[in-house]
This record gives sequence, C-alpha cells and structure tokens, in this order.
Amino acid sequence: MTPLEKLLRQMIEQEGPMRLDRYMGLCLGHPQYGYYMTRDPFGETGDFVTAPEISQMFGELIGIWCATQWQAMGSPKKFNLIELGPGRGTLMADALRAGKVMPGFVPAAHVHLVETSPVLRRMQKERLGAAVAWHDSLAEVPAGAAIIIANEFFDAIPIRQFEWRQGHCFERCVGLGEGGLTIGLAPVKDICAIEAAEETLVIEEAGARNAIAAEIAARINTAPGAALIIDYGHVRSAPGDTLQAVRQHRFVDVLDRPGEADLTAHVDFEALSRALSAGGASVHGPITQGEFLRAMGIAERARALGARSGAAAEEARERLAGEAQMGNLFKVLAATSQDLAVPYPFVQA
Ligand code: SAH
Repeated sequence: MTPLEKLLRQMIEQEGPMRLDRYMGLCLGHPQYGYYMTRDPFGETGDFVTAPEISQMFGELIGIWCATQWQAMGSPKKFNLIELGPGRGTLMADALRAGKVMPGFVPAAHVHLVETSPVLRRMQKERLGAAVAWHDSLAEVPAGAAIIIANEFFDAIPIRQFEWRQGHCFERCVGLGEGGLTIGLAPVKDICAIEAAEETLVIEEAGARNAIAAEIAARINTAPGAALIIDYGHVRSAPGDTLQAVRQHRFVDVLDRPGEADLTAHVDFEALSRALSAGGASVHGPITQGEFLRAMGIAERARALGARSGAAAEEARERLAGEAQMGNLFKVLAATSQDLAVPYPFVQA
C-alpha cells in the first residue's frame, strides 16, 4: 500500500466517502505524497511523454504564435508571459529561443510560471535560469498585459463525476470496501446538467477548471492579452467517464497505487469556452493540434531540422500532428481581449 493510500483510508474512515475532485487533488498535489510533488514524470523512463518533450518544434511554433500575438497587442514594452503547469520548462525555453525572431518580444517578456511542484520548479530553474518568477496560482501573477500558455495543464485539474441511474442522480465518490478503496455512489440533489436520463450516464463537472478559465478571461478583459490552451479532450460537452490513470506508459486503475500514477480527465472544451466567453474574452477554436501545427509551419520546420538531424524530425512531426497520433485527439483553443483581431490560424466563427 502506498503511504498516500494509507492516509486516504484514514481520511475516509474518519470523514466518510471522498468526492473524486478531492481524491484527484490529493493524488496529484498532496504536499508530501502527491504524484507531481515527488517526481519528474516525463519521458521514456517516466510515466508519459508530452508534446514539448517529443520535439523542440512544438515550443518553437508556440513561441512564434506568442510573438505574433504580442505584436497584435501593440508590442507592449513590458508584458507577462505566463505558463500554467510548465513541466520541465522545455516549452518555455523553446518558445523564448524561437521568439527572438521578433525584435523586442523577448526583452519585453516577464516570465511567470504557475507551478505547485517543488521538484519541477527546480528543473524549470535549471532550464530557464533565475530570471523567472514562480507562483502557486494564476491569481498571484501581477496584473498587466499577458500572454498565457497552458499545455496539458487543465487535464490535471480535478473533476467531479455524477452518475444518472434510472432518473436519479448520484455523485461518484471514493469509499472503503472489503478490498480497499472503491468507487461508490452518494445520492445528490439534481445538480447535473442533463435532466433525468433513462439510461445510466456519467457526467463530468469541472468547476475548478472553469474557475481558472474565468480568471484567464478576467485578466485579458482588463488588460490586453491572449491565451493558448492545448490539451486532449472533446469539442462538445458529452456524457462519459474520461478519468484515467497512467503509470509507465500504461493505463492503470484510478484507485491503483494512489500518488504513483498520473491522474487526468479529458478536457471539455465547450465548458472551457463558455467560461472564457462568460468572463468577457473572445474565444477562437478549438481546432485540432494537427491543424494548428500545420498552419504554424511544422512541415517546413521539420524539413529544416531534418537536414541536420535526419529522420527524427519527420517522426516527431508525425507524432505531434499526425491524425492517428496526437494531431486529432489534442485540441487548441485561443482566447483574446475582445478588441484584438482573430489570431492566426483561427478563423472567425
Ligand atoms: N506543460 C508541461 C507539463 C504538463 S503536466 C508539458 O507539456 O510538458 C502538468 C503540469 O501542471 C506539471 O508541471 C504539474 O506539476 C503542473 N500542475 C498540476 N496541477 C497543478 C496546479 N493545481 N497548479 C499548478 N500547477 C499544476
């Protein structure tokens, strides 16, 4: 039994079944035993690989997008370049290097990283130097013009799950059964979005994610700004259980070895768009990661890199943008201040 599981069992014994968002939050972020707090999870020897770790092209093309947005914002002499959940700092390092092609962009950027993991903060510092600032939440970042990037951040923000069974709504909670941790149903008043379904349906609710989206919107509503959100998920809200645990590149049970697997749920881009719009931001997309990267010139960049590094660049392009790989599952959503033009490569809705 992992030390976190021991703790969770004690908590459930004392307080009763635990909501999934609390379980997910403790599994990922418990100060002592949380998954992200104790390790570097990325890479072939870790648990999963993210786009910036596949190839420098990913961060570079995002850097070019940010530089173009900065120009669209009137090239402010000073602005906050904010990344939510920056992992090893690879995306930011690649973006800043590529952003040098736009005169004035990098000197104007004050880099702010929103990161809760001390292990990853150390890696980010090694990568990016000390001239960046760290924060536990977006609310702590100083106000002002901002460009905000979030790659595979929202999927790690906890969700709740509700289950409709024959017209009754229950919340899925983690309880204690004979064999240890188990998922149980707690009756709730009808707070799910879908009315009295006949069949059994699981509905996910991501209040914490939507609250962060609302904060992003508030920020770019009061000062010039743009945000780019990349994650796996669905374009339209739909019922379904998308909570998943991954350890060493394999799916495992979400209750298996708590604190030692990455727990995520797919991002509901429709809900996220709604929260951004309600907060006063203009929302663009989502488009697929493949569409975004192709429009930003990944084919040309892969050819240029390939001339030096051979087939690896072409393989990476296929992994990032290929329809059967990350290209379709991952979506890219942008939000901008209302007075800014629709950012390339998004089109007017
Ligand atoms: N963007 C990176 C890492 C994605 S993994 C990449 O693409 O490689 C998720 C990241 O979000 C990690 O850096 C993790 O420590 C961070 N994170 C998870 N929950 C967080 C929270 N509630 N607040 C801030 N950062 C969080």
